[in-house]
Amino acid sequence: MTLPEHFTERMHALLRAEAEAFLTSLDQPARAGLRVNTLKCSPEAFRQLAPWPLEPVPWCASGFLLPEPARPGLHPLHRAGVYYLQEPSAMAVAAAVAPEPGDWVIDLAAAPGGKATHLASLMENRGLLVANEVTRGRVRALGENLERWGARHTVITQDSVARLAKWGAVFDRVLLDAPCSGEGMFRKSAEALSQWSNRLVESCAARQDGLLAEAAQLVRPGGVLVYSTCTFAPEEDEAVVAKFLQDTPEFRLEPLTLPGAQPGRPDWLGTTSEAKLERTARFWPHLSPGEGHFIAKLRRTDGPETRVKPAHVKPPMFAPPPRQAKLWETFVRETFAENPLINAPLTLQGDHLYALPETLPDLTGIHTLRTGLWLGTLKKNRFKPSHSLALALTPGELVGTRTLSLDPNSPEVTRYLGGDVLDAPGENGWLVVTVSGFALGWGRRSQGVVKNFYPKGLRR
Ligand code: SAM
Repeated sequence: MTLPEHFTERMHALLRAEAEAFLTSLDQPARAGLRVNTLKCSPEAFRQLAPWPLEPVPWCASGFLLPEPARPGLHPLHRAGVYYLQEPSAMAVAAAVAPEPGDWVIDLAAAPGGKATHLASLMENRGLLVANEVTRGRVRALGENLERWGARHTVITQDSVARLAKWGAVFDRVLLDAPCSGEGMFRKSAEALSQWSNRLVESCAARQDGLLAEAAQLVRPGGVLVYSTCTFAPEEDEAVVAKFLQDTPEFRLEPLTLPGAQPGRPDWLGTTSEAKLERTARFWPHLSPGEGHFIAKLRRTDGPETRVKPAHVKPPMFAPPPRQAKLWETFVRETFAENPLINAPLTLQGDHLYALPETLPDLTGIHTLRTGLWLGTLKKNRFKPSHSLALALTPGELVGTRTLSLDPNSPEVTRYLGGDVLDAPGENGWLVVTVSGFALGWGRRSQGVVKNFYPKGLRR
């Protein structure tokens, strides 16, 4: 790989004897990884199922390294949201955020959803995850990935961090996976390599200073703010954190004890710093599998620890009128052994029915794309279930549900994902098409023919 001259010079100056090993690693192929969706499957159970040999990622309990010829993106279990393809060092970020079930968490730069899906799994579908992405063209992928994941307690927004900051200090955990110069993407993205320049590093650093200051306004006393980048430039890493700590003394750095992480490098800033910047973590491609990341975990230490959330906000959420609610209830009774969303508040927006998280911030004036889990559409006295609902069902919740169970290697699975009808005798009505016990999507059987409801836009 031909690297920019200024980049090579800088890395030699910083890494000295280690520079050669680092630069050589950039000429080696990137290691592929996947992270198991623990909302649906345990890592142990996945190891039994996976058709590839898997090597654990030391810093992520649900992460695995894959051998070179694996093509996991083509496997039907990927369509069923059983795993996410993620380069291994990126898996350290949500592990550092370490949300607890019930927390209020916000991922401020979330697309395409690598860290957001990881956070959703760690939160066990409890509490609230706001996944925000300001760039319009990137939000769709975020929505699709969170849908495939089966994340229920999620709000997807497309707004600036400054506007979201108006919510104030209400989040237990805030993640700013910042837009950066992407030096850790050089092996994977020719675009990252061609766009890199010293000017880009400087402009990213200036933007990161502003975004981190805004992100901090969302952290409750006692809460956590994680700042991460996939770049090696100290200007965008330790320097941003140093400036932040200087300007915002109510935050302190927490040590990060992730296996495989190297300490941050305050010595590269050319000043002796009191800020304990060696508590930040760096993942290097020549020292551990993955592309490289920088992570800082900051805790807000002033004021009394508060975990009070604003009450559930009604407007602009409308509970469905009884007649429409009844259509949903009938569908649930006919389809599931037990209502998988029994405790979720419901809301009707147009003809779309949603299950909401139990608490929500005030979304008035925030550009919101999805609030909660889309359950389906109410039309002409009928309820039509959504793809999101199928993908949100766990194998346990599918027990007692009418299913059509397909083998991952069968021609039927290929036909289903391609949009074909399937022949399968049985009771008429809605059924969940499954692969190895995981939901892939809906079908509706009539006289032994299963009509295909796999979304047209996702068909192969
Ligand atoms: N967290 C994502 C994941 O794990 O899949 C990757 C996020 S990527 C490193 C940074 C994101 O920041 C991009 O999606 C980009 O569109 C977004 N971004 C760009 N400018 C921004 C800004 N001014 N404020 C907030 N986000 C911004």
